[in-house]
Amino acid sequence: MIRDNLEKVRQRIQKADVHNQVTLIAVSKTKPASYLQQAIDAGQCHFGENYLQEALDKIEKLKGQNLIWHFIGPIQSNKTNKISQNFDWVHSVDRLKIAKRLNDQRSNNLGRLNVLLQVNIDNEPTKSGVLEGEIEQTVAHFENFQNILLRGFMCIPNPDNSEQSFKKMTQIMQKYPNLDTLSMGMSSDLELAIKNGATFVRIGSDIFGKRV
Ligand SMILES: *Cc1c(COP(=O)(O)O)cnc(C)c1O
Repeated sequence: MIRDNLEKVRQRIQKADVHNQVTLIAVSKTKPASYLQQAIDAGQCHFGENYLQEALDKIEKLKGQNLIWHFIGPIQSNKTNKISQNFDWVHSVDRLKIAKRLNDQRSNNLGRLNVLLQVNIDNEPTKSGVLEGEIEQTVAHFENFQNILLRGFMCIPNPDNSEQSFKKMTQIMQKYPNLDTLSMGMSSDLELAIKNGATFVRIGSDIFGKRV
């Protein structure tokens, strides 16, 4: 079942990904480690998780399999230490305070933690992320960090105008030639996101089934 779902998602991606630049992240929040193992057995290695304790349990259960773990959920200050030590990527850095803590807490021997700045691209009060007008100033600060590396941006656009917002993100990216990663697109809009410049898509329900 998960194997078939994964294959369908891969085919959708392949069809849209004319520049061959997209990596699939399987978003496994609320799903048990046994589901992730099925995806691993079908060749999946990037996983996205939203809740720290749940993620740590799965990371422990599935260790030794060369997986790449992405933290994509909201980040409270008291969670940064474990996030910095247990993940390869963090997509949901939405303020400098969090970036600084991740930088200070990441162990040197782990190498730099890849991070994305979350952008509240539609200026929605219910969503986290920096506003478009704050991006430039925020990005400049990342030069001071030795243990984290800013790779690009993540966004969760309003579904009502997601195409426009994806396009806006791609335009913003073009101002930063050193950045190479744009995390956008979920189950319902992955084709649109890829067509408009995504390099990571984060797919949950179309792989693992609906969350209850
Ligand atoms: C849950 C989640 C996803 C996956 O959404 P689906 O609609 O299930 O594909 C992607 N990104 C973030 C940030 C999420 O929280």
